[in-house]
Amino acid sequence: MKPASKSPKTRCVHAGTAENEYRAVTTPIVQTSTFKFDNAEQGAAAFAGEDDGYIYTRMGNPTVEALESALAELEGGAGAQACASGMAAIHTVMASFLDAGTHVVCGESVYGPVTSLLAGPLSRLGVTATFVDSSDAQAVASAMQDNTRLVHVETPGNPTMVVSDLHELAEIAHAHDARLSVDNTFLTPILQRPLELGADIVVHSLTKFINGHADVVGGAMIAASEDDCTTLRKSLNLLGGVLGPMESFLVLRGLRTLALRMERHCESALTLARWLEDRDDVAWLRYPSLPSHPQYELSRRQASGGGGVISFGLRGGLEAGRQLMNSVKLAQLAVSLGGVETLIQHPASMTHAGMTPELRRQAGIDEGLVRISVGIEDIADIMADLEQALSSSGAHTLAGDASLG
Ligand code: PLP
Repeated sequence: MKPASKSPKTRCVHAGTAENEYRAVTTPIVQTSTFKFDNAEQGAAAFAGEDDGYIYTRMGNPTVEALESALAELEGGAGAQACASGMAAIHTVMASFLDAGTHVVCGESVYGPVTSLLAGPLSRLGVTATFVDSSDAQAVASAMQDNTRLVHVETPGNPTMVVSDLHELAEIAHAHDARLSVDNTFLTPILQRPLELGADIVVHSLTKFINGHADVVGGAMIAASEDDCTTLRKSLNLLGGVLGPMESFLVLRGLRTLALRMERHCESALTLARWLEDRDDVAWLRYPSLPSHPQYELSRRQASGGGGVISFGLRGGLEAGRQLMNSVKLAQLAVSLGGVETLIQHPASMTHAGMTPELRRQAGIDEGLVRISVGIEDIADIMADLEQALSSSGAHTLAGDASLG
C-alpha cells in the first residue's frame, strides 16, 4: 500500500490504488459476475466469512472496492459502498436505519425525488417525514420527535443553494438518538467533509462532480463508524443496487481529476455569478461564495469553495427563464450537473417537478428559478453565450416577480 497522503488533491490521484498482479498503474477492470472457488470447502468457508476471497460481484468486486476505498479515504469515513445511483444510495441509507413507526427530518431543499421517496414508498412502509428549512437549526430542532431516527440534508441544497450548519445539525440529531445523513454531491470531499463536522453518513450522486463526465450514473454511501458501514453493506447486498465494475472504473478515472476540476468549477462559477448578479435583467442570484448569499459566513467556515452550481431568477420571471434556456447555444439545456460541460435547467418543471407545489413553495423553489451547472470551458465563452441568449430573449425588458430576491 502507498503511504496515506494528507492533501485531498494527492488523495484524488492515489486513493484506492492497490498493488495488483499485473503491476498495472491504473485499477484493472475485473469484469466478472462471479468468482471460482478452489474447492467446495473454500466455497463454504467464503460463505461462512472464514475466507475473504471474492464470491459474487453483488457481494464484492476488486474494481468496485478500489472506488469504495478511495471514497472512504477522501471523505474520512470508516468505509464506503458504491451504489447504482445517488437515489439507490439514499434509499439504502433510509431502508437501513428506518423502521415502521420511525420519523425523518428532511431538508426541504433537496433533490426532488428524495421527497417523493419519503412521501411514497417509505411512507407506505410506515415511515413519516417532516420537511424543514435545514438552514434554520431551530426549525430542525423543533421538528425532531421521540421517534426521529434520521436527519437528512443537502448543503448547499438543490436547487435553492441554502447552506445548513452541519455541526449544529449533528448535535441536534445526536441529542435525539438520530443519525445525520448529508448529501455532499454539490461540493464533494474536495470542498466539504461532513463527517469531520459530525455527520454520521455522507451520500453522493457519483453521476455528478465525482465522475464529472456525464457518462455514468452512480452513487455512494460513506459512514463514519464501522458498525454503520457493516449495516449499509449488508442492506446494499440485499437491496441489490450495486455499481458495476466498468462504471466503478470510469468513476475512479473521473475521480483522479476531481481536485483540478473543482478548482476550475469554483473559479468559473464565481466569475459567472458576479457577472450575472451585476446585470439589470437578473432579479436575484444564490451562490455560496458571494457575500449576498444569506449563509455566506457559514459557507466560508464550513467549506473551502462554493462549487459549480448557481441558481438565479430573471426579472421577466418564468417566461424570461424559458426564453433564456431556449436561446443558449454553448450551454446545454439538460438536467444533471457536475460534468465538464455547462448545463442549464428549470427545476420547477424538471428535476423538482415531482415535488408537491406546496413543498416547492415552502422550500422557496421559485417558478422562475433557473439552475446552471458551470462546466470547465473558458468562462468567457459561457458568458458570451449567456449574453447573446439574454439579449435575444429580451429578458431585461420584461417586468416580473422576484420572489426569492
Ligand atoms: N443528490 C443530488 C444533490 C442530486 O442532484 C441528485 C440528482 O440530480 C441525486 C442525489 C440523485 O442522484 P442520481 O441521479 O445519481 O440517482
